[in-house]
Amino acid sequence: MKRVAVSACLLGKKCRYDGSDRYDRELETLLEGCEVIPFCPEEEILGTPRETIDIVEDRVVGSQSGHDYTDQIVAQAKEFVKSHPRIDQIYSKSKSPSCALCSARIYDKEGRLLADDAEGIFIKELKKAYKKAKFEERSPK
Ligand code: SF4
Repeated sequence: MKRVAVSACLLGKKCRYDGSDRYDRELETLLEGCEVIPFCPEEEILGTPRETIDIVEDRVVGSQSGHDYTDQIVAQAKEFVKSHPRIDQIYSKSKSPSCALCSARIYDKEGRLLADDAEGIFIKELKKAYKKAKFEERSPK
């Protein structure tokens, strides 16, 4: 059976920073007959609701606290890979500093936008680990 990892908010879990979801109805069909493995690194580490986080240069920091969450998110990704040695496909939520594939924003220390086509920190680790998996970013309305 195909093993598919999915950002939990796309499955309707209310795990976004403000307690909302980003339910992606089209995924229902795409996931038929698959083993689905949800993930939400931010909820695991910060809980819900929580402060938003930003990628500042090569670190992930809390937008209010300034706390550096990078090492925790990377550790969370490594733990996920250890628990799930085989993943065939990954659907991840766009624009997230954790989950985006090619749409995360990066800022400099003064808050200026450096890029808006970056990988999220969690997904970057998954890409390193799952070389044969297919990755797709999702942006449900
Ligand atoms: S985008 Fe990723 S980290 Fe953010 S709520 Fe969805 S699953 Fe969690």
